[in-house]
Amino acid sequence: MTSAPTSAAAAAEWNALSAQIRGCVACVELAEARCNVVVGQAPAGARLALVGEAPGAQEDASGEPFVGRAGQLLNRLLAEANLDRAEVAVVNTLKCRPPNNRAPRSAELARCRGWLEQQLALIAPALIVAMGSTAVTWFHGPGARIGVLRGEPRVIGGRQVLATYHPSAALRFGPAGAPMAALREDLAAAARWVA
Ligand code: URA
Repeated sequence: MTSAPTSAAAAAEWNALSAQIRGCVACVELAEARCNVVVGQAPAGARLALVGEAPGAQEDASGEPFVGRAGQLLNRLLAEANLDRAEVAVVNTLKCRPPNNRAPRSAELARCRGWLEQQLALIAPALIVAMGSTAVTWFHGPGARIGVLRGEPRVIGGRQVLATYHPSAALRFGPAGAPMAALREDLAAAARWVA
């Protein structure tokens, strides 16, 4: 799904941007290793945008964001919060899978930054949920701590940004872990925010 906000013109802009992103070879190592550039999903008129880190193996194979285990958990928690994933924009800080799922490098994030900036400008969501430390740092800068920032949206560059844990962290710490409870709570808060 690559259609974007509100009007046919906006959808055309989103599709044009997506085509540019798909052709990006700025990170040579990532461009050589990838199967797909995972542009993300931006349903028309999305009021909520979720920002993750980077595609994993299944996202690289399918070309769609959050379709692996973390994505399945995310889908469950969105449904619990009465959020329809088909109405939520889902994008990443990095559009290509880092080999062996290593962490994105700061130079890669810097090269990819403009793409996400342009996507958010087109989506213009009422609320952004930054999931995990890579996304939270993307918005807040180095040293940002999810545990300190989460709980309420903060205005960053004119955008409302809610920091929370990544679904992978929720999986890692298990169903009784603090990240799962926090992510569940934060998505429910996000649903209320955009209602
Ligand atoms: N993790 C992410 O951060 N993004 C995806 O698209 C999938 C897993």
